[in-house]
Amino acid sequence: MVLIPASMSRAEEKHWVAEMERKLQRTEIRRASPARESDAALLARCAQLSARYLDRQALPASVRWVPPMRTRWASCTPADRTIRVSDRLQNVPAWVLDYVLVHELAHLRVAAHNAEFWELVRRYPKTERAIGYLEGLSAAAGWGISELDED
Ligand SMILES: [Zn+2]
Repeated sequence: MVLIPASMSRAEEKHWVAEMERKLQRTEIRRASPARESDAALLARCAQLSARYLDRQALPASVRWVPPMRTRWASCTPADRTIRVSDRLQNVPAWVLDYVLVHELAHLRVAAHNAEFWELVRRYPKTERAIGYLEGLSAAAGWGISELDED
């Protein structure tokens, strides 16, 4: 919500709202991950996260930005060790994208969403916050609440 001072004229108001939107957009991009830039940057981030949280035991053969998927933010195919991330996530804060990558990397070790899987994922300290963020994003997209990589 944007609060507009009562004394503003229409023209001033338009200018002011545009200015606020520009500022917000700059903030969002500043908080976004450098991994948004390319598939290579995404793979480099996966290597860092695998080293930090997954004992270097989870490295994909490929990780790619892909066009938006129907009701998923990302997916992992453990058989060929490939990960795909919806490019709708290119502008989320870096800590949210990191959660998505840790989640998909953990699937390279445990395919199912079982207790062992969540134990790995929760090594990433912002897991609960990121799940909440993605639930909000899913609701905004009209998807309802679901796992980030299940239909
Ligand atoms: Zn999953």
